[in-house]
Amino acid sequence: MPRPIEAVVDLAALRHNYLLARRRAARGGTAARAWAVVKANAYGHGLLRAAAALGDVADGFALLDIDEAVRLRQAGIRQPILLLEGFFTVADLAACSEHELSVVIHCLDQLQMLRQARLPRCPPIHLKLNSGMNRLGLVAGQLPAAREHLAALACSGGGGLTLMTHFAEADADGGEACIRWQLERFARMLDDWPQAAALPVSLANSAAILRYPATARDWVRPGIMLYGGSPFASEDAASLGLRPVMTLRSTILALQEIAAGERVGYGGTFVAARPTRVGIVACGYADGYPRHAPGGTPIVVDGQRTRTLGRVSMDMLACDLTDLPAAGVGSPVVLWGEGMPADEVATAAGTISYELFCALARRVPVRSVGEVAQESSRAGSEEGNE
Ligand SMILES: *Cc1c(COP(=O)(O)O)cnc(C)c1O
Repeated sequence: MPRPIEAVVDLAALRHNYLLARRRAARGGTAARAWAVVKANAYGHGLLRAAAALGDVADGFALLDIDEAVRLRQAGIRQPILLLEGFFTVADLAACSEHELSVVIHCLDQLQMLRQARLPRCPPIHLKLNSGMNRLGLVAGQLPAAREHLAALACSGGGGLTLMTHFAEADADGGEACIRWQLERFARMLDDWPQAAALPVSLANSAAILRYPATARDWVRPGIMLYGGSPFASEDAASLGLRPVMTLRSTILALQEIAAGERVGYGGTFVAARPTRVGIVACGYADGYPRHAPGGTPIVVDGQRTRTLGRVSMDMLACDLTDLPAAGVGSPVVLWGEGMPADEVATAAGTISYELFCALARRVPVRSVGEVAQESSRAGSEEGNE
């Protein structure tokens, strides 16, 4: 029997969250199309699994690696696929062309490479402007040169060109001022480019879709909300209407009954103040559970909330079963997901749910709810035959 830990992915919840993103974006007025952001292996949920679940509803898929984009094409995905950092070398452009990938262009070098490649047809471009995030994107002074390149490439007409920027503080309380400032800067950058007013625009990530739907425009780019994580520290996912997608679950592997004064785990950071039943969970930081989660981080055992005790080890962590007398070896544990919001665990560990999902370790098997149900019904019928 394999080690009793797995991540179960609820694909119906993923679809629900995607459709919710598109509905929220429609509140902005126009019916925005939504790139399903599936970078980083669909935020740890499995690229092909996520794409298959959204295959018949998503307007397009956005990610980083050309290899991942090609895998989506090979899996039969026909929708537009956007490379969020574009291409890295001229050599990449053959694959972009062959697989009809859309590309973000964030610097003049990329436009030069495009011209060098002399492709028969220019790929659809998301031209990224730096409106204040100061990470990727063209600045105002580079736009005349960019427009010259685009004219030479003949990609400005026909819907092949979309303007894009990224918000730095859409998730922050009081981020509205920054959004307004970035929007002003974005508009000002386009002052000398009258034709730009007719181009489609893509601005909003999850946080902006949920809090500033007026920024939805033509294309939105939801990521974390698809996976049921809240982009906001001050608002939980359930109250946003999002459903958890990944549930990381395990079981109690061993039990220790300790006296007051005994310690638990490396460094003995937990000292029992009373006689304590300690449950040992088959999950540690090598599975992707954050080592920084301090003792007291919430955890669900047998469907009831309790807390972790002491430090997280590589393969195990401890939790308090003193007030859960029915729980014992074999009791189911939910580290995050259904019944235990990932955002709460992330906050306790001083991080965000994005990082928890992306850090899920390769050694943890991932299955969909459907696969789990199939296997347990198969196991059930085998038992019945005995
Ligand atoms: C990752 C990413 C997104 C998605 O962001 P979320 O906060 O996860 O919704 C959107 N746009 C770009 C450019 C990204 O890199």
